[in-house]
Amino acid sequence: MEKGERLYEGKAKIIYSTDDPDLVVLYFKDEATAFDGKKKGIIESKGVVNNRMSSRIFEYLEERGVRTHFVKMLSEREMLVRRLEIIPVEVIVRNVVAGSLAKRMGVEEGTPLKETVLELYYKSDPLGDPMINEYHIKAFGLAEEDELRVMKETALRVNDLLKPFFDERGIILVDFKLEFGRHRGDILLGDEITPDGCRLWDRETKEKMDKDRFRRDLGRVEEAYRDVLEKVLS
Ligand code: UDP
Repeated sequence: MEKGERLYEGKAKIIYSTDDPDLVVLYFKDEATAFDGKKKGIIESKGVVNNRMSSRIFEYLEERGVRTHFVKMLSEREMLVRRLEIIPVEVIVRNVVAGSLAKRMGVEEGTPLKETVLELYYKSDPLGDPMINEYHIKAFGLAEEDELRVMKETALRVNDLLKPFFDERGIILVDFKLEFGRHRGDILLGDEITPDGCRLWDRETKEKMDKDRFRRDLGRVEEAYRDVLEKVLS
């Protein structure tokens, strides 16, 4: 597999072409951003942790019938994936109140939810990812109705699979963000599943083991990422 030209550089990853037009290489960087890119920093070895963790979780999901862009891990920081036309809708699944939901509803972080909450956001850096609903998605042509149905069903299935996966490892899956894309007529789960886009709390101490340590200057950021990886790989 020949790594070709750089196609796109995002906040946390770089995408390279390959000699196969259906496949691209994801390179995971250590750069971290928060608050719509207003806060910037480096989380040492984050790229390595996120590549390994995502690879393991995509494998786990694929083995259980979830269709993802994952092909294989290529190196410490590189993953081979199917090329996607990314759908500009972020799907957020929540099991426990945290972050923007705590603020919006005026409810304390850590409050359990009676039911799983699924939210949709328009993926747009200049607009700061505003929350949208299914009417917006259809009216603005962001995704077809059947595409959106697959995205929602897959997101809930991923939650049903990952809640016990993390629970067995002493971690509460508080909430997470998923992205999807089109590939040869299919909708595949894309992006990454890492502490950058998931809230993960230690079940016993309720300590945060995710990007909130960076966002909120809680310290021990690298340690938390490494600890999560170790548990995910166990
Ligand atoms: N999230 C993300 N990217 C975003 C927005 C949210 O990965 O652009 C993740 C975030 O890490 C958390 C979940 O989605 O695990 C819910 O985030 P929330 O809406 O509470 O927003 P935040 O408080 O992070 O701004």
